[in-house]
Amino acid sequence: GDIELALGNPTAAVNHYMLALPVLMESDIENALMRTYRGLSTAYEQLGQSDLALLAQRTYTQLLQYELEQQSLEDTQRLQVELETRRYADDNDRLQNLQEEQERELAYSEKLRGLQLLILALGTGILVLVFSMLWRSRKNARRLHTLANTDELTRLLNRRAIMQYGAGQWQRSLRSSQPIACLAFDVDHFKSINDNFGHAKGDEVLRMLAAELMAAMRVCDAVGRIGGEEFLLIAADTDPKQAFALAERIRCRIAATRVPGIADRKLTISVGIACKTSESSLEQLVQHADEALYSAKTSGRNKSVFFEQKSQQTQFVLQLGMEKPEQKQLKPDLPSVVISLKDEVNGKPAGTAGRTCSRPAAGTL
Ligand code: GH3
Ligand code: MG
Ligand code: MG
Repeated sequence: GDIELALGNPTAAVNHYMLALPVLMESDIENALMRTYRGLSTAYEQLGQSDLALLAQRTYTQLLQYELEQQSLEDTQRLQVELETRRYADDNDRLQNLQEEQERELAYSEKLRGLQLLILALGTGILVLVFSMLWRSRKNARRLHTLANTDELTRLLNRRAIMQYGAGQWQRSLRSSQPIACLAFDVDHFKSINDNFGHAKGDEVLRMLAAELMAAMRVCDAVGRIGGEEFLLIAADTDPKQAFALAERIRCRIAATRVPGIADRKLTISVGIACKTSESSLEQLVQHADEALYSAKTSGRNKSVFFEQKSQQTQFVLQLGMEKPEQKQLKPDLPSVVISLKDEVNGKPAGTAGRTCSRPAAGTL
């Protein structure tokens, strides 16, 4: 039809177009149908059949419009799909980014948590280490302190420690005006134990003696080993009567002790007692107890002797009998104690300078 039209044969062109129309209507070739109607419109126009030409033109226009609408609809749908696809893609990207972000945050927080746990563990470890070091150093310090204050053989306080304890009690007694007593003990003829039974047995005796001392003394007192076989007991808040009773209780307990392995060798001690009167220091009080101990030794041993100030030119010696110490010590305050005085200043006869208490002697207190 187009060729006939181009050749100037509109009638032939109309025929061709009319033949093609039913075929094209059956098919989906929209473009060819539109071209046929346009060709028909032109051919009718050339043939002067304006009604048919208008009709063909109108059909062509409608087809064109329909085609354009279809095109526009397809474009819109395609755009919508693209838009949706892009939106989905964007959403996916966003979600993926979000997920990646969350995963990163999770990994970071896990890393952080691991780090915190590590720091916590390290901190705890350091704390444990510091505390264990502190504990060990305190334990060491305590051990060293104990070692520095303990007599190795008897486990009693050593000289330094008992003197330190005594100094504290001395100050306390000065502040409170309470009495304080000092008892010095020395084993009688201890050398002979060493000589007869050996040094090891002597050590054993010293250990036993220390245990007996600990058992006999009051909980408020303290005792220490200040020399080979010499001991010192500090008794706070103790007046002369109480000090004497304490000394005798200890002396009797020791005298009653039987040491295995040394046969019938009797173990006795002498005790020097000094109670604070005009002493100006603990050292002076200990010195006085030592002097009283010396008196006990020189006057027969196995006894408790009080120190009396020499300035008063009076010596006060309380002496209990040595024959049956166990019985005597159970009642140290019995009125069978005798006092004799001897005045050394005025050169008066015996019986005016010192006082000696001796249970078996005649007379009454
Ligand atoms: P006294 O009645 O005059 O006190 O006589 P004593 O023999 O007890 O006194 P002396 O001072 O003559 O002897 C004390 C002895 O104590 C001499 C010493 O070898 C011994 N001795 C000192 N320290 C220890 C020790 O730690 N262990 C032993 N086994 N003996 C010791
Ligand atoms: Mg001795
Ligand atoms: Mg001695």
